[in-house]
Amino acid sequence: MTTLGVGTSVQVQAQTRARLPEWLRLKLPTSDSFSRTRNLLRDLSLHTVCESAQCPNHWECWSQGTATFMIAGDRCTRACGFCAVSTAKPMALEDDEPARVAEATRLMKLKHVVITAVARDDLGDGGAGHFRRTVEAVRELNPDTTIEVLTPDFLDNADAIGDVLAAEPDIFNHNLETVRRLTPSVRHRATYDRSLAVLQRVKDLRGNRMFTKSGLMLGLGESEGEVREAMRDLRLVGCDLLTIGQYLQPTRAHLPVVEFVTPEQFKKLGEDAMSMGFVHVTSGPMVRSSYHAGDFQSSVREAGCPSPGPSV
Ligand code: SF4
Repeated sequence: MTTLGVGTSVQVQAQTRARLPEWLRLKLPTSDSFSRTRNLLRDLSLHTVCESAQCPNHWECWSQGTATFMIAGDRCTRACGFCAVSTAKPMALEDDEPARVAEATRLMKLKHVVITAVARDDLGDGGAGHFRRTVEAVRELNPDTTIEVLTPDFLDNADAIGDVLAAEPDIFNHNLETVRRLTPSVRHRATYDRSLAVLQRVKDLRGNRMFTKSGLMLGLGESEGEVREAMRDLRLVGCDLLTIGQYLQPTRAHLPVVEFVTPEQFKKLGEDAMSMGFVHVTSGPMVRSSYHAGDFQSSVREAGCPSPGPSV
């Protein structure tokens, strides 16, 4: 199997911890606002995926006063090979967490907020009710803030997905993460087709009143054709918004990086995705599913309604 960028990308030898190419070496800004964000989140005892997933944009986003809240605890019931969030027996849900997320949104003056959660396969509804309550609490205290949910697959439980949608988030985001062939080795318990089914179900339940968004990680050994197939599959279930970023290995225990895809290759794939009919695409080495999420909301506002049927 050829990988994405034969001849141009940086291929990584098996069994080595990849040395980062120049375009992924970050200069960390020093800023008081980073500390302010960190202190505020600590004071409210909130988890973020920025910290728990060791996001490389942690410094940039927190310095700009934004973060992605991770609700329902910091212990996930799954053990995906790419993800740094810890796998352990989950804690009980905290009844006051929705109010704390709402208060943080208010104090941070967020115009657009992204709320994600660990997978809670131990709960009958997968944590959907907690999602709904959090969205409702955020909206009540911050009526002008747009809300994006970045959800687990809820095992494609229609009632659970409907419960989250009942809170009327502005964007429903669920990541496909990788191409079909690699999904079994990259995502624990999740399946490629189930993730597509979740996005399709949102459209079935809400149609043109709901924008859907998804994300792909590159650098796990996928071919360019497989990435295009994944983008086409997303359009076929009406997905409107897309992020494409570079996978980075959080620890030696996680899946190795197979290649570092160049910024030029990301740009080309982003352009190809736009030509397939996505409303907004962000594609680049540092892109994560909540990176510059407010930009997506601006495009959504301009587009007015979700993209028409697939043009793939
Ligand atoms: S890209 Fe998303 S997860 Fe990463 S630091 Fe920024 S807000 Fe947090």
